[in-house]
Amino acid sequence: MWMVDAHCDTLTKTAATELWQAPKGSQSDLFRISRFVDLQFCAFFLDDTEWSEKEIVRENLRLVARALNVIAEHGDELKIVRSKEDLKKLAKNSCSLLFALEGAHLLGPDLWMLDIYFALGFRSLGLTWNHNNRAAAGCADITGTGLSAWGKELIAKAEALGIAIDLAHASETTFWQTMAVAKKPLLVSHACCAGLYQFPLFPRNLTDEQIVALAAQGGVMGITFVPDFLSKKAAGLDQVLCQIDHAVKVGGIEHVGIGSDFDGAEEMPVGLAAVESLAFLPQVLWQRGYDEKEIEALLGGNFLRILQEILP
Ligand SMILES: [Zn+2]
Repeated sequence: MWMVDAHCDTLTKTAATELWQAPKGSQSDLFRISRFVDLQFCAFFLDDTEWSEKEIVRENLRLVARALNVIAEHGDELKIVRSKEDLKKLAKNSCSLLFALEGAHLLGPDLWMLDIYFALGFRSLGLTWNHNNRAAAGCADITGTGLSAWGKELIAKAEALGIAIDLAHASETTFWQTMAVAKKPLLVSHACCAGLYQFPLFPRNLTDEQIVALAAQGGVMGITFVPDFLSKKAAGLDQVLCQIDHAVKVGGIEHVGIGSDFDGAEEMPVGLAAVESLAFLPQVLWQRGYDEKEIEALLGGNFLRILQEILP
């Protein structure tokens, strides 16, 4: 059984010296990821309100350089996934990392930056974070716009290269317009179900209609552990399980996974406080009534299946 986590902010959030081993009490670090996760999507993210379009690319590349150095130092425990072939080489004594851009704003104004990121190993592109950018409208959008012409070009280019398109944080209009143009399965790396709860500040959780369409298209959504998106009340492990149950009921067992977002929120739910808690999920899902095959699909198999269709 492979453990695949479709989203964490660890490479962006931890201080330079702490990427490998963060202080006690932290949610995640590469040392623990290498022990508890088999394939970890690692997001690179900077807030576009804090950086100019030019500065943001440079700063992001600085973070990439830092991560590449730490990964190279720990080459036995950490690999970067770049291809279908690499996916076949997952191993229990190491973790494969999949580099992901969380927002097309990290490309700056140039489409060719995607070629550079591809060469650096990036294999997932989130079209937006919360805000609108050159490519598309994010989930905080109030204009009702979706994809731009530039965004459509970007999607075609990413798909041709073998980079997955991620719709977590996209506005609903962006979601539907991307559905209409995408040729490969789409992923929503970290979100929850609006059918159970919708975050009032920006509607980022998927409606049942969206979950049905994503599944029909062959895509997979990763349930996130971020309390803001789980429920109105203080969230624990049970709310995460309810979200998984709902997504499975609506989209089907083959279209749901997990996207924790460790290091992407101040606090995680009780019972899922840090990356090592992933180790309990198989047993917890078993007690919930899922069988072995279903647990394998939920915790890794589904994301691995669509990556096999998408990566070069
Ligand atoms: Zn996010």
